[in-house]
Formats: sequence, structure tokens, C-alpha cells
Amino acid sequence: MRGKDASRSTPAGADRAPLTTVFFDLDDTLFDHARARRAGLQLIRSEIPRASGISVDDLDRRYQALVEAFHPQVLAGTLSRARARALRFRALAESLGGHVTLAAASSLGARYEEAYLAHRHAVPGARGLLDRLHGRVHLGVISNNLVAVQAGKLRDIGLAEFIDTLVISEEAGVAKPDPGIFQIALRRARAAPGGAVMVGDSWENDVVGARRAGIAGLWYHPDRRRSPSGQAPRLATFHPGTRAERAIRRAHRAHRTRSRVA
Ligand SMILES: [Mg+2]
Repeated sequence: MRGKDASRSTPAGADRAPLTTVFFDLDDTLFDHARARRAGLQLIRSEIPRASGISVDDLDRRYQALVEAFHPQVLAGTLSRARARALRFRALAESLGGHVTLAAASSLGARYEEAYLAHRHAVPGARGLLDRLHGRVHLGVISNNLVAVQAGKLRDIGLAEFIDTLVISEEAGVAKPDPGIFQIALRRARAAPGGAVMVGDSWENDVVGARRAGIAGLWYHPDRRRSPSGQAPRLATFHPGTRAERAIRRAHRAHRTRSRVA
């Protein structure tokens, strides 16, 4: 593994470490979670009371907020995914001033899941970029979710073959943005923090979290939102792979420069 060289770097030499390892977030970074989610919502939209009166964007925003609200309990194992889905759809209807029973919400959730699973795709350009980097650097995924769910996504979107190291919060016992999960990933990849870059769409989880562990962060922002600091290296698309790779290497160099200044 390429990370072996980096593992010999001392902390004092970390600012000179070559790029050995690139970590990616999964949802809405390599996996097009938004596309699958919207396909599921489109399918059942007419059956959610009052949902036809709002835009799909608005419905999606409301649903995303509910995903975030229930996800910690799913990760903690205190709520099953199916029950979380039912509670989400009931809460979604209520947020619109409507009402569905828990049984009806459960049925909506099951059909949503079916459509979601049928519309799983890699983010445009992700496969080309991983194919380009594979074998030249160690590739890892760091994701907050359940192992079976995330491994299934990677397999179904055809990216599992490129990933050398998979670190999922369920088995790691710690979640992003806690630096602990990045340190676990570094150990598994046998990489020094100064030799790694983390690419992800969540400013807090992926960029800030990685930086706390001494890893360069590259913010993936396909919708071109502004970063909170305005200072972060950023990337709006993985296509073409040559340009995306240059952005990753620039983020790595910029981080080393910052580390030296600091
Ligand atoms: Mg994400």
C-alpha cells in the first residue's frame, strides 16, 4: 500500500509528506444521494398530504432536515431504519399541516426506499476520478452510517473495487467530525496526516473534521454554495478527472504551506 511510505514520516516531517492517500465522503460526494432521494420523493409525492402544493426542492429540504433529525438514533442503534423512515414521513406530512397514520407512513417509507434503491448512481465524474487515482494513491471512504448500508451503496454504484480502506462510523465507534474517525482511517491506510486529503460535501463533517486531525480538506460543492470561511480549497465537479486531481493536489500543497506557517 502506498500509505506505508507515509507511515514512516515523523510529525516534524509531515509538512514535506507527499500525497499518498485520498479519503472521500460517500453520501453526496461519491454517491449521488440527492438523485436517489429525489426519485423516491417524486414517486410518493402525490400521496403525502399537501405535498403537491410545494416544490420538489422544498419537499426535499424538509425531508433532508428530518433525515438529519432521526439519523443519530439510527446510528446509535436505538431506531431501526424502517421505523425511522415511517417517523420521517409522518413528520413530513405534519410539517405541511397534513396527517398520515404511522402505518400509512410506513407504507410510504417502504415505497420510497424501493425507488431510492432503484435510482442509486455514482456522482458524475466520481468513477473516472477514482479510476485515475487508483493504484497511484491509497483510496479510502470515511462515512457516518451503517456498514451494510454504505458497503451496499459502494457495491451497487460500481465503486467498491477502487476503495482500499472503508471506515464507517458504526464499526469505528466514532463519527465525523470527531478527529478520532480520521485517525482510525489514517492508521488503517498507514498514512501520515500530512500525506492525506479528505474530499467531502459537508463543511463541518468533512473539511473541519479532517483539519482537526491534521488532514487537508477539499470541499466538494456541486451546487457552488459559499464555504463558511470563504478560504477552503473547493471543487465543484469531479469531471474531468485531470482537473479534479489537480485540485486535490493543490489542496494538499496548500495545507502543507499552512502547516509550515502555523
Ligand atoms: Mg456527504
